Amino acid sequence: MLVKKIAILGSTGSIGTQTLEVVDQNDDLQVTALAAGGNVRLMEQQIRKFRPSLVCMGNEEKARELRTLTADLKVRVTAGMEGLLEVATQPQSDVLVTAIVGMIGIRPTIAAMEAGKDIALANKETLVTAGHIIMPLAKKQNVRILPVDSEHSAIFQCLNGEDSRTIHKILLTASGGPFRGWKKEQLAMVQVEDALKHPNWSMGKKITIDSSTMVNKGLEVMEAKWLFGVEMEQVQVVVQPQSIIHSMVEFEDGAVMAQLGAPDMKLPIQYALYYPQRRYLPGKRLDFTKIENISFATPDPEVFRGLLLAYDSGKRGGSMPTVYNAANEYAVAAFLERKISYLTIVEMIESAMEHHRFVEQPGVEEILAAERETYEYLESRW
Ligand code: NDP
Repeated sequence: MLVKKIAILGSTGSIGTQTLEVVDQNDDLQVTALAAGGNVRLMEQQIRKFRPSLVCMGNEEKARELRTLTADLKVRVTAGMEGLLEVATQPQSDVLVTAIVGMIGIRPTIAAMEAGKDIALANKETLVTAGHIIMPLAKKQNVRILPVDSEHSAIFQCLNGEDSRTIHKILLTASGGPFRGWKKEQLAMVQVEDALKHPNWSMGKKITIDSSTMVNKGLEVMEAKWLFGVEMEQVQVVVQPQSIIHSMVEFEDGAVMAQLGAPDMKLPIQYALYYPQRRYLPGKRLDFTKIENISFATPDPEVFRGLLLAYDSGKRGGSMPTVYNAANEYAVAAFLERKISYLTIVEMIESAMEHHRFVEQPGVEEILAAERETYEYLESRW
């Protein structure tokens, strides 16, 4: 039996734990390295169950705590960016699952590609901010970027056996989140608890807030642009509230291919890990005799202004998507800490984009500098 060896960045998060569920259900997947931020208890359980030889925690204090808890085990515990880079490039692994949240994922992803690893990519921030570096590097290193995001996996599945030059447009579906059908005035009253109620998917906090503002969809449009080599204008966001169609591709001849399924992230995760094979996956199935309707709508540009700003920033390119993403990360963290109102999230993004000194072809250092400058600007301004 050929065993595929995987390393996971962000193993304690929503995608990370679901990846480990997939590993648990398949004898020919083996975990060789894990990384997480601060959840020492869960990491200890994961080490005891999956027996990786190398793990990394967000900082040295957490690493020390974990070393004490796992003193009876053969595992090396590292910390910080150095540790993340070690996990990403560990010689034993074949594929790196990037399930870490934020732009901290850029460096380890690049390092893993340089070490010849395929990337199962959930960390969309990497492609959004550094797509112009990642995609040519994948080609040069002859490694695969396998999308884990459900929409991008759907598009990837629709493109199986097709020539991507015949894509006419990509129809990126969105549930519309908890505020679909609302008016802009109603958003002024939104509290953290309201925005954390996603109708169909269970995800990490940050991405759940991003789904409610549709900034997540904006980031996904930029991600699709890089993954599938299309222009921003070729990606159309379509609201599909039941989350049954995970995305579609319209080809030059007018044919439209769609991928459908029950909303379960384990499907795209497993597809990325076994591509191009399909494997049995236990869980819910669609029963078409019970689906009353599948409906479609256009997102309201007044309510979801964050989506329009994503198109602006994606079309400008260069360092602008970094500013869009960093301003949103900063704003969402402030909103979750109840320091700013819900509508301020998009105001902050717009203000940071207006204030930014644009760089046409930023390298990794310039991308990280643009992130820092965005944070500093927002901190001084709010
Ligand atoms: P979560 O917040 O649930 O998990 C984030 C993970 O990153 C945790 O394991 C966390 O560790 C870890 N982490 C955070 N900071 C550090 C750090 N400094 N060093 C090492 N590890 C760190 O996020 P999600 O799983 O929801 O999302 C992960 C990525 O996948 C995001 O980019 C998101 O946009 C993308 N994505 C998520 C989807 C979903 O369904 N959830 C769908 C598609 C894409 P700890 O908790 O221990 O601090």
